[in-house]
Amino acid sequence: MSKVPPIILNNGVAMPQLGFGVWQVPDDEAEKAVTTALEAGYRSIDTAAIYGNEEGTGKALAASGIARDKLFVTTKLWNADQGYDATMRAFDASLEKLGLDHVDLYLIHWPLPSKDSYVDTYKAFEKIYADGRARAIGVSNFLPEHLERLLGETSIIPAVNQIELHPHLQQRAAREFHAEQGITTEAWSPLGQGKGLLEVPAIVAIAQKHGRTPAQVVLRWHVQLGNVAIPKSVTPSRIKENIDVFGFELDLEDIAAISALNEDRRLGPDPATFDIV
Ligand code: NAD
Repeated sequence: MSKVPPIILNNGVAMPQLGFGVWQVPDDEAEKAVTTALEAGYRSIDTAAIYGNEEGTGKALAASGIARDKLFVTTKLWNADQGYDATMRAFDASLEKLGLDHVDLYLIHWPLPSKDSYVDTYKAFEKIYADGRARAIGVSNFLPEHLERLLGETSIIPAVNQIELHPHLQQRAAREFHAEQGITTEAWSPLGQGKGLLEVPAIVAIAQKHGRTPAQVVLRWHVQLGNVAIPKSVTPSRIKENIDVFGFELDLEDIAAISALNEDRRLGPDPATFDIV
């Protein structure tokens, strides 16, 4: 049984607050990694067409024997497929690779403002949603200005905006804007991609204080902030460690120490200019 509490999205759909990300996991390793994650209790899996591992992910889901309605599957539309008709084709291809007849959440991967097609793309998402082929629709890497435009020109408020978010990039303004609009904030690279962040003395000290690991402290910080987080690992012990964050609590002093680590420092591209297709 999943140990992860749900976040209720703006259309009433329940999304596990912690999921498993599979970026950079090759297709032939995704089945094993997702299987390990499902065994550890994860029920939410975050993939994307561009990750090239929807097939491996789908195989693990099918082999798990877990009822479809207990799983939460997210995939994303790649930039090259923006536009109404291309989105429809790309969505069919993703479903086929995943071996599913619907996803739980479908996201526009990047706004790609230079292409100016995210509004048309989102109208295709609304059709997919109306047809019951995605239980929720949303976006990723959208800045408040891109969301404002969607809110003005389309009818369904995105359920989720998945953005880069970790203690070095805390995204306060975006989180506030999302909260005002009823959009759930989902954190990608929630561990800051491992490396430096997990060695920051303040985080190591909090981990020692609670008898936890630095990764658990950072994930617990996301949970207490109300974010959805999707850490990635292919190491079974870390996969287990990363979901075991519901049995302790950071106190106000811990939260303040982590808040002080913000540097507005991105690891990934700037959504205002990113235009790779
Ligand atoms: P992450 O912050 O989850 O860090 C992952 C890395 O941290 C691992 O490769 C490993 O090196 C290390 N790590 C993981 N668990 C650890 C532990 N317990 N102890 C020590 N080190 C640990 O970074 P990510 O993979 O970039 O992001 C997570 C997920 O977010 C991705 O897999 C993907 O699903 C999603 N994502 C989305 C976008 C987007 O544009 N929407 C972009 C990047 C990532």
